Amino acid sequence: MADGTRRPLVAGNWKMNGLRRSVVEFAKIVAGSANLAGKADLMVCPPATLLTALAEAAKSSAVAIGGQDCHPESAGAFTGDIAAEMLADAGAVAVIVGHSERRTNHRETDADVRAKALAAWRASLLAIVCIGEAQVEREQGRTLDVLGRQLDGSVPDGATPANLVVAYEPVWAIGTGLTPSVRDVAQVHEFIRQRLAQRLGAAAGGIRILYGGSVKGSNARELMAAPNVDGALVGGASLKADEFLAIAGVYG
Ligand code: PEP
Repeated sequence: MADGTRRPLVAGNWKMNGLRRSVVEFAKIVAGSANLAGKADLMVCPPATLLTALAEAAKSSAVAIGGQDCHPESAGAFTGDIAAEMLADAGAVAVIVGHSERRTNHRETDADVRAKALAAWRASLLAIVCIGEAQVEREQGRTLDVLGRQLDGSVPDGATPANLVVAYEPVWAIGTGLTPSVRDVAQVHEFIRQRLAQRLGAAAGGIRILYGGSVKGSNARELMAAPNVDGALVGGASLKADEFLAIAGVYG
């Protein structure tokens, strides 16, 4: 559970899902967010094609909009890529970097993720840095080694509670319906907090650490209750307003 110093964040990652008609579903999230009464931050990260429309629909609500990835450079000959500045221009206040689907499908390294987080900061965006172990790494007992290396390599110097959120997303839990035990989640989140503290000192205490991987309405309460879990990064369940709001409702 987020302690009083950290305001929980529930962020939805729509991935490559959503057409213009999805604004209707998003409007339900905006309407339902009023029930949270400022107890948690709510964010949706749609595909880039919907950023402007969702930012428009979220106007004067408490729901924030984020991107799903950015290029390290601010402009140039990078066909198909999106600069952090473009995300900000479209209404985003945050961007996910280092999602395991990018690390795997696009072979992004920790150094790439770090460069993207720096780009996010350059554009005044909150960087949501994802880390997570693969199933084989877990089976070999290497989870904390892998996470420590990803964290050290992906988070730039100068991280603060205002510019960084870390999302722990075990790769084997994403989209599978599987989740680690609450005890495992608590152990990993404590490890992440300590590792951040070794590098950042007291600032680490204010940085939000989200859990992601098959979070849904039915398991959110127990997962979010674990120490050092300051909210959730939600994939599939964020596409349905009712389910997403049920997750956020843990904090209502
Ligand atoms: C994700 O991909 O960030 C994620 C958490 O997905 P899901 O909730 O569908 O497991």
